[in-house]
Amino acid sequence: MQIVCLDLEGVLVPEIWIEFAARTGIHELRRTTRDEPDYDKLMKSRLAILAEHRLGLPDIQKVIADMGPLDGARAFVDGLREDYQLIILSDTFYEFAHPLMRQLGWPTLFCHSLQTANDGMLVDYRLRMPDQKREAVRRLRELRFTVVAAGDSYNDTAMLGEAHAGILFHPPENVIREFPQFPVTQSYAELRAEIDKAFVAQASA
Ligand SMILES: [Mg+2]
Repeated sequence: MQIVCLDLEGVLVPEIWIEFAARTGIHELRRTTRDEPDYDKLMKSRLAILAEHRLGLPDIQKVIADMGPLDGARAFVDGLREDYQLIILSDTFYEFAHPLMRQLGWPTLFCHSLQTANDGMLVDYRLRMPDQKREAVRRLRELRFTVVAAGDSYNDTAMLGEAHAGILFHPPENVIREFPQFPVTQSYAELRAEIDKAFVAQASA
């Protein structure tokens, strides 16, 4: 049995925090782990900024719904699901991804979660487990699935390495340079061809 594991942001949908910052004009939300390496500090400050602007979950979800998936993402996902089982492995939160999952036809998603107060304000976040992308692929392999994984960035490279085959999609230059073992694809047609090729190679291995 064959499973495709895909990253979400940068592969099927825009980078949520960056796009959200652009759409709301709240520039402080553009900060990433590159600016604040302490993830907990970064997340707490993001939640405080949202509360300061009185943006509750319904407001946030409305902005995210308007972003929509990337062009061609829905057709790519539908095509994949005709031939393989698909699991999206993401470091985003269910509450943010929800409006985008609707537009992608509700594929299976493993990610993290947020805690909301009665007034809709986000008060805390919960990571399901550390390094969940890699752990998920490892467990799928233990269940005797053949796994091909694709993603665009550093936080995907562990899962790409853990899978039977890993593929980069539209990655930044530094990731291409540091991880030359993974084939690089730039379009959904290329990615689909590379996924098919990887499963064929596994079947004859
Ligand atoms: Mg990504």
